[in-house]
Amino acid sequence: MNRVAVLGSSGSIGTSSLDVIAAQPERLQAVGLSVHRRWDLLQSQISRHHPRWAVVVDESLKSEISVPSLSSPTELLWGEAGVERLAGHPDVDTVICAIVGAAGLRGALAALEAGKRVALANKETLVVGGPLVMQLAAKTGSALLPVDSEHCAIFQCLEAGRRQDVRKITLTASGGPFRGWSRDRLNDVTVEQALAHPTWKMGKKITVDSATLMNKALEIIEARWLFGLTAEQIDVVVHPQSIVHSMVEFVDGSTVAQLSPPDMKLPIQYALTYPERWAGISPTMDWSKAHTLTFEAPDYEAFPALQLGFEVAERGGTCGAILNAANEVAVDRFLHGTLRFTEIAVACREILQHHQYDSQPTLPELLQQDRWARQEMSRWKSSLQ
Ligand code: MG
Repeated sequence: MNRVAVLGSSGSIGTSSLDVIAAQPERLQAVGLSVHRRWDLLQSQISRHHPRWAVVVDESLKSEISVPSLSSPTELLWGEAGVERLAGHPDVDTVICAIVGAAGLRGALAALEAGKRVALANKETLVVGGPLVMQLAAKTGSALLPVDSEHCAIFQCLEAGRRQDVRKITLTASGGPFRGWSRDRLNDVTVEQALAHPTWKMGKKITVDSATLMNKALEIIEARWLFGLTAEQIDVVVHPQSIVHSMVEFVDGSTVAQLSPPDMKLPIQYALTYPERWAGISPTMDWSKAHTLTFEAPDYEAFPALQLGFEVAERGGTCGAILNAANEVAVDRFLHGTLRFTEIAVACREILQHHQYDSQPTLPELLQQDRWARQEMSRWKSSLQ
């Protein structure tokens, strides 16, 4: 029995993870859940999964939640300390890190520190602290398995050859809802338009990131650290159907790709079962029907966030923490109407240029840079103001 803790169980990846776990009752068990403040949903997840621990991160809810209302023998924990205790507990085998944003870093580090199998859906962990995270995993012997669909695809394709025989990888991007739009037209994009993703159903933050292509920029950085590649070994291609999830080209000229319908249950389950593959609840391709798969180069002028991804992957150091934090606040401002869609990448570039670069920062330094970038972005002057 694989005892699984799901950090961020109320989100899109978290709920899909619980569906994957519930479909394999003989082999997978949800022993711990954590939410930020979705107590209502956590309660229904507790009554369905009967975990040993449940964590509410937002401690301001303490006065509103009565512990005796728990009907099962679930122990309620609070705050970041609760997440860390759950992630590192000896009775947990695997930790699914599905907390959105830099807030997910602490739980992921606690799981790696304790040598757990880590199913990493939180790309910010690698974007912010790539070298530190990979060193920690190597030191404790943690298996770090990507749940991001592109990185799960690369991970699977790499099984086809030796690491030293990889020439490059190609990350596919759906292109988001504004594929084909000009930079001018993107100026007046509304929140509603940005949240209407054509192929993937996800949370708000990542949906906006998919519309700006900042999500792909973060994935370039994530791939650079996770697979030990250089920025030059990473390509991006727009593939609107989201069927080919990414590809690896080997030195002999052979390209290996991974294909499946756009659904996160497969990458989640693969991270839990690797190196095995289990029959599960993920949808499969129906090749008896006609399919057209198209590929085109991204428009770097209309989507300048993408270029930032390559630059940050190349420079490393403090750049990932700065870009990630600046973007998180920028997306929040866009959702609240105080920043234009096209200003997200412009402001992120300015803040990156002005930061105190360090090539080998420690974790406290990265967290300090994260705070600095958030302050800078929250007072960045928009043309809307
Ligand atoms: Mg992805």
